[in-house]
Amino acid sequence: MTHDTKKDSQTTRDFPVTDLKGVGGSRAKILGRLEIATLFDLLRHFPRDWQDRRSAENFPLPDESSLKTFFGRVIHARSLSAGMRLSIFRAELMTAAGPVSALWFRRRNPRFDVMESLKKEIFQGVDIWVVGRAETSASGKCELHVEEHYLDNEGSKLHVNRLTPIYSLTEGLTQKFLREIEWQALIRAGKDIPEFIPHFLSVKRRLLLAEQALKGIHFPESRLELAEARRRFVYEELFFLSLAWRIKRRQARESNKNFIYAIKRSLLTPFRNKLGFEFTPAQKRAVNEIFSDMQESFPMSRLLQGDVGSGKTAVAISAILLAVENGAQAALMAPSEILAEQHFATLSRLLSGLPVKIQILTSRLSLKERKEARQKIKNGEIDIVVGTHAVIEEDVQFKNLRLAVIDEQHRFGVRQRATLKRKGSLIDLLVMTATPIPRTLSLALYGDLDVSTLDQMPPGRIPPKTFFSSEEKAFEAVRRTINQGRQAYIVYPVIEESAKKDLLSAKAEFKRLGEKVFSGIPCGLIHGSLKSADKVKVMEDFNAGKIKILVATQVIEIGIDVPNASIMVIQNAERFGLASLHQLRGRIGRGKGESECHLVGNPQTPESRRRIEILLESHDGFRISEEDMALRGTGEIIGMVQHGDFGFHLADLSKDENVLKETREDAEEILAQDPHLSLPEHEILRKRLRELYQEHWNFIDLA
Ligand code: ADP
Ligand code: MG
Repeated sequence: MTHDTKKDSQTTRDFPVTDLKGVGGSRAKILGRLEIATLFDLLRHFPRDWQDRRSAENFPLPDESSLKTFFGRVIHARSLSAGMRLSIFRAELMTAAGPVSALWFRRRNPRFDVMESLKKEIFQGVDIWVVGRAETSASGKCELHVEEHYLDNEGSKLHVNRLTPIYSLTEGLTQKFLREIEWQALIRAGKDIPEFIPHFLSVKRRLLLAEQALKGIHFPESRLELAEARRRFVYEELFFLSLAWRIKRRQARESNKNFIYAIKRSLLTPFRNKLGFEFTPAQKRAVNEIFSDMQESFPMSRLLQGDVGSGKTAVAISAILLAVENGAQAALMAPSEILAEQHFATLSRLLSGLPVKIQILTSRLSLKERKEARQKIKNGEIDIVVGTHAVIEEDVQFKNLRLAVIDEQHRFGVRQRATLKRKGSLIDLLVMTATPIPRTLSLALYGDLDVSTLDQMPPGRIPPKTFFSSEEKAFEAVRRTINQGRQAYIVYPVIEESAKKDLLSAKAEFKRLGEKVFSGIPCGLIHGSLKSADKVKVMEDFNAGKIKILVATQVIEIGIDVPNASIMVIQNAERFGLASLHQLRGRIGRGKGESECHLVGNPQTPESRRRIEILLESHDGFRISEEDMALRGTGEIIGMVQHGDFGFHLADLSKDENVLKETREDAEEILAQDPHLSLPEHEILRKRLRELYQEHWNFIDLA
């Protein structure tokens, strides 16, 4: 018997897409852009949506904006010309819902009849399916702008008269083609579909088997089947995430820093004395938690969360000083240069007179300065390095780095954390965020971190009064505030004017405000495209009180701390997201006395009005972030938090909280029996984990 043994041992995982009918080299290349190389990849390219394409049975149509499907018999069809450019093909259909005019629009071509193929297909007496956007014409008739049509035959059953999958595409692909090859791939794969979920869990959680679920996700026969298929894959996504977090945590705990911290207080005490305030009980608790982590044998992985202004910096400095007291180096990293500069200034001020060497490492340094700095860091002459992501991304070498503090973690991806870990897996890590993240989300996003929360504000803080004002009123308030010796922010949504959008811009307004509205008052301008030396200069001048009004874009959203600034005007406030507005407002109300935030703008949509209402009502960052989620959906927030790091296709943590709980339990159960996934029956889990996470996260080291 001649037998192609290689083919035999292959599975759908390895079959190239070119095995499918209709997929040649060039189509395969296009599919490659969607990272689809094999049948398995193709089957794992899940639909992004499903349309109900069963034929509509009555008028009026409930929702004119979505696509509608009709099935009917052609009564009459002809092509018309509409002006120089456009041809229209019009077919009158009789459908179950009544008469429908189906319209096809095509750009004319002088060389041939663009309607030729339609004329051949569609004529009196033919039964067809049409899918498109419906409008009710002046005479009350239904007109459909056709996007897809199918003759009523065997081939149409993937596309109409069902819940129809809609895929993410790339140039050169159509929905129709993709549906056809997905179907082919399903048939071709048959039962040869890898199953990643252990059988006992499928039984326990009543999950569809992979084979059934794939069919149900691509070509569901009912809403119920779709829901079950979706649940199966959501479970799978969250299950592997839960396994990954658990394993990572265990690995971290098994490692040993080989370093013993002692709380000497040689730097901590002078620092506390210099601060000029007492720590809040919440800050004390956080410092204790951090110190006891640092004294453990395994590296710290802790998240410090606290609303804007809750005093995270002082906590971070305490951790840094513990490291330095013990002869180690520490790095403090911020998501922007402005913020790094500010941390550098704060540290320099609070630690002046102490035997501590601090080095800033940003693009402001000349090449020569940077080279010197790196040398000193390498020799150990520097105790604390302050910088941006670049500190971890570029290959800065330390003599004895033991602590990394990352400020505003939500701008830091898992990947960057992984890079840092590679620098030395035994480094203590403290990440800080002001974006309070609901518990479900934080479990998934930061599943490997311990959490400390600053749930108290420093005493004497009066939350800013927030108003929805006219520009005139807001500017009046600015003038009043400046006369009292305090300072102001005026924030704009964009740097420069653009022809398309009628938004106020920081640059143009800086001119207008400086020359006219506030002439005589020193104004400064700051935005993301200034050179970093210029940004530093502006912030220094504002800090020193030389600039009274800072005209800014969102660059000041995070971390900036100038306590004397007590008023903020946000122009085109409707253009900012809720979280941004809250962060922006957090720049004021940081010193003694009262402060004001004026939102100016013209909210047109219910959503933008709601954002402004919430801000007027609440100062509670936690509540604001929950409202934000309700308005925007978690998907977008996760996207913002760390786009793409988890490879979720279907899971949505705002809906799938219960599934996440189940998967955490189940992952724990498996790892309790087999912590290294070394049993033969777990081999498939091990392989799949590696496939999913090893490359990006680079932390799972499984046998
Ligand atoms: P965030 O948590 O937003 O990073 P910061 O660390 O910038 O907050 O602190 C905000 C302001 O509050 C700073 O001016 C800081 O000096 C001050 N601050 C921090 N802790 C206290 C405290 N316990 N008492 C009084 N002021 C404090
Ligand atoms: Mg901060």
